[in-house]
Amino acid sequence: KSKTVKRGEFLFYSAEMNEQAQRRLLVENQLRKGLEREELTVYYQPLYQPQTDQVTCCEALLRWNNPELGPVRPDEFIEVAEESGQIEALGQFVLNRALTDISQLNLQRHTPMQVAVNISAKQLLYSPIVEQLQQALSHQSLDASLLKIEITESVLIADFETAVMVLRQIRQLGVHVALDDFGTGYSSLAYLSRLPCEEIKIDKEFVQNMLIHRDDENLVQSIIAMAKALNRRVVAEGVETLEHLEKLTLFGCDYIQGYYISPPVPLDAFSRFLDDMASARNDEDL
Ligand code: C2E
Ligand code: MG
Ligand code: MG
Ligand code: MG
Repeated sequence: KSKTVKRGEFLFYSAEMNEQAQRRLLVENQLRKGLEREELTVYYQPLYQPQTDQVTCCEALLRWNNPELGPVRPDEFIEVAEESGQIEALGQFVLNRALTDISQLNLQRHTPMQVAVNISAKQLLYSPIVEQLQQALSHQSLDASLLKIEITESVLIADFETAVMVLRQIRQLGVHVALDDFGTGYSSLAYLSRLPCEEIKIDKEFVQNMLIHRDDENLVQSIIAMAKALNRRVVAEGVETLEHLEKLTLFGCDYIQGYYISPPVPLDAFSRFLDDMASARNDEDL
């Protein structure tokens, strides 16, 4: 009797595995076609600076809508792209799109906008990223300081020495560096002080829990204080309410990112968002 149960369990397990593997394969194949068919787009989310009531930076976030699969979340297809060797093509696409879009946006504005592009660990460690950034910048009339890359702790865990070396070269180009999703990985304080980066982004998990759990609020406050002590700017991700914004501002957080300010939106909507902010400020001045 126990044999049949075991056998059944095994069958169930393998069927589930099979489903996962099939989905992965489907995503991999559709992604290859999707890149050619230009199904991928880039959305922009503002980083709001409460001290100045301004938005001078945004994050570029990939979106993919496939006719067969529908919208696929970046968390899913980025992982597939990393495993199937498509991350380099994907990375090049976002970088060029973001730089083109933001150069165009900046032609129409007084204050220059900076754009942050996510770079996966594989790209940073195994592709000629420094040359790619340099080349992408040379195609645009965009100052290098208006580009920022966001990396996660996984890259530091994989190969800290190489990561530091590459990041130093990137910063020599004048490009800024942010450490994304801070607090979710192996956030060692020893790592942080030695990391060539000017910005730390507190993961949305802590931010969202800070009004629920006292410990998380204390943690967020400490991360902000620590970032300041290390002379790094600090961003809070996942800010969805005014209460969060007010508390984070009180703690001295430099930038606020989240649905409370704006979700990630296409370039034209982002441009309208900036116009609305400017006219709201003018109304206040009158
Ligand atoms: P991330 O870099 O940490 O990006 C922030 C994520 O939080 C985005 O998810 C954004 O839409 C979401 N978010 C922003 N504000 C809020 C909020 O108030 N509440 C909640 N619940 N979420 C908020 P998204 O766009 O789904 O991207 C997920 C992850 O996929 C990114 O996390 C990043 O790691 C990766 N990713 C996205 N675009 C790219 C890309 O072009 N290249 C690479 N390598 N990775 C990317
Ligand atoms: Mg990011
Ligand atoms: Mg993040
Ligand atoms: Mg993330």
